[in-house]
Amino acid sequence: MPSLPPFDLPGNWYKGNLHTHTNQSDGKPTPAENMQWHAAHGYHFLALTDHNRLTNPFDFLANPPLLMIPSLEYSTRRGMVEYHVISLGLTKMPIAPARDPQDTIDAVNAAGGTAFVAHPYWHDHTLDDLIVLKGHIGIEIFNTGCWLEINKGHSLAHWDLLLRRGQTLWGLATDDSHFRYPDHGRGWVNVRAEKLDQPSIIDALRAGQFYATMGPEIYDAQLEGRQVTVRCSPARSIFLIGDIWHCPNAAHSWDGKPLTEATFTLHQGQRYIRVEVVDMDYQSAWTNPYFLP
Ligand SMILES: [Zn+2]
Ligand SMILES: [Zn+2]
Repeated sequence: MPSLPPFDLPGNWYKGNLHTHTNQSDGKPTPAENMQWHAAHGYHFLALTDHNRLTNPFDFLANPPLLMIPSLEYSTRRGMVEYHVISLGLTKMPIAPARDPQDTIDAVNAAGGTAFVAHPYWHDHTLDDLIVLKGHIGIEIFNTGCWLEINKGHSLAHWDLLLRRGQTLWGLATDDSHFRYPDHGRGWVNVRAEKLDQPSIIDALRAGQFYATMGPEIYDAQLEGRQVTVRCSPARSIFLIGDIWHCPNAAHSWDGKPLTEATFTLHQGQRYIRVEVVDMDYQSAWTNPYFLP
């Protein structure tokens, strides 16, 4: 059975957090402490995303213990609507803060970086607020800080509304961590790449070659004919989610014995599908969407 991307790709899985703060903005850990925490907890790469300032990791550790992607979190605004734009892979700030979100995304792309929109639910973004943006790779579908503080960490409905309207946007999980360290290590991306260097990780993020997770691992998703088979770490539930509503596609462990595989049949007329795995502690992992021919 042929695997869907990124499960069919050569290379390795690399674990990374793309949104965290240090004492260079409103975070508690120093940049060095933040890098060391992530290295000690199995992360391969990290983006320090202080508010409206590019924290250069190499100013704080000459030899960081993991791959560092120089980044920041821009505050932007259009009318009354505020957007935070995570901007990755920059050597300098290509635009001032507090500008228009689209101008910010365009400036980041023109500077060779890449951008995604942080915590739509925390901002109470509507579909209209989000659908006007272009050129970003995706949105945060899970943000630990927004979950712990006001239980608006999950932006899955925002994602599906955009996907249903034909936007190709990837779903990212991040910590947006500020403290020592209860808000660390709860949301990240596992990226499939040939090499652990900044160009390979950025290219893989742009291409959607990753999945977002709060803990569960997704090993494979295969498509053969109209059958989709998912393999994963032990799970309470596995879902195949798409754009045809009222059609159940779920496998559950009713007897307490965890699932590690499930097969689903595509519904007629589905235009995209995505997989969600929920483990025994109700932590989720999400594949990116697959757009069906
Ligand atoms: Zn933010
Ligand atoms: Zn943040």
